[in-house]
Amino acid sequence: MKKFVGAHVSASGGVENAPLNAMEIGAKAFALFTKNQRQWKAKPLETKSIDAFQKNLEASGILPKYVLPHDSYLINLGHPEVEQLEKSRDAFIDELERCRILGLDKLNFHPGSHLVKLPKKDPHYEEKLLEAELGCLDVIAESLNIAIEATKDSNVKLVIENTAGQGSNLGYRFEHMAHIIDKIEDKTRVGVCLDTCHTFTAGYDLRTREAYDQTMGEFDRIVGSKYLMGMHINDSKPALGSRVDRHHSLGQGEIGWDTFGFIMNDSRMDDIPLILETIDESIWAEEIEALYRLVK
Ligand SMILES: [Zn+2]
Ligand SMILES: [Zn+2]
Repeated sequence: MKKFVGAHVSASGGVENAPLNAMEIGAKAFALFTKNQRQWKAKPLETKSIDAFQKNLEASGILPKYVLPHDSYLINLGHPEVEQLEKSRDAFIDELERCRILGLDKLNFHPGSHLVKLPKKDPHYEEKLLEAELGCLDVIAESLNIAIEATKDSNVKLVIENTAGQGSNLGYRFEHMAHIIDKIEDKTRVGVCLDTCHTFTAGYDLRTREAYDQTMGEFDRIVGSKYLMGMHINDSKPALGSRVDRHHSLGQGEIGWDTFGFIMNDSRMDDIPLILETIDESIWAEEIEALYRLVK
C-alpha cells in the first residue's frame, strides 16, 4: 500500500485522543491541532499526555511521518505590524517544539496575509497589490528562516499549505510557494501541502484528466513534487477561481470524484499523509474507504 489516507481528527481532551479517533475511522494518517487553535497561549504538553500520545500512536499502527499537525489559525507569519509578527513567530516556534516533543516531523501552516486593503478604483491597484504581496512573501520567508534557526536541532519540517486566496491570504499561486522556498536557507526543513479545495478555488482546474495533468505539471515545474509532503483532500462548495475557502464532502461539491481518483493513482502522492478536512465527519470512515476503492 502506497497511499496513506486519514482525516483531521479531534484532539479534544488531550493530544493522546487523536490517534484513537483516527483508529476509529480506519485512518492510515491523520492531522491534529497540538493546542487549542483559537487561542494564543497553551500550557506545555504534560509528560503523561506525551507518553499516552506515543503509546496510542503505536497502537494505531500509524507511523509519525503520516501525522500532519496543523498550526493555530491566529498565527500570521507575514503580519505587517512588528508586535503581531513577533507574537506569531514566537507562537509558531512553540508549535514546532510541540511537534518535536510528540515525536512528529511536520508542521502544516498557511503562509500568511498582508492585510492591505486597496480600493479597486485606485489607478495603480494591480501594481500596489503586487508590491504588498511580494513584500509579505519576503516577511514570511524571513519568519521561516528565524523559526528554522530557533529549532536547529529539530527535524520538524515546515510544510507550507496553498490557500484559496481569500482576503489577503497569500499562497494561492504556486509562484508564491516557490518565492518563499527560494529564500529559505535550509531547504531540507521545508515542504508543501496542497489542498484540493484551495487549489481549485484559487483557479487551478483539476476536474478532467487534461486539467489535472496541466495543474500538477505546473506545480512540478514551479514548486517541484519533491517538496510535496502532504495533501488535504476536500471537495469545494464554491466554483473554480472563486477565491473562497469552503470545503465540501467528497463528490458533493464542484470538484467531483474523478479528481480524487486521479490523486489516488498518482505516484506523486505516494507515502505522504492525505488528509480529509471535509465537512461531515460522520462519513469520514466511508470517504476513506471510497478513496481506497479508487486505487487501480
Ligand atoms: Zn487545508
Ligand atoms: Zn480550507
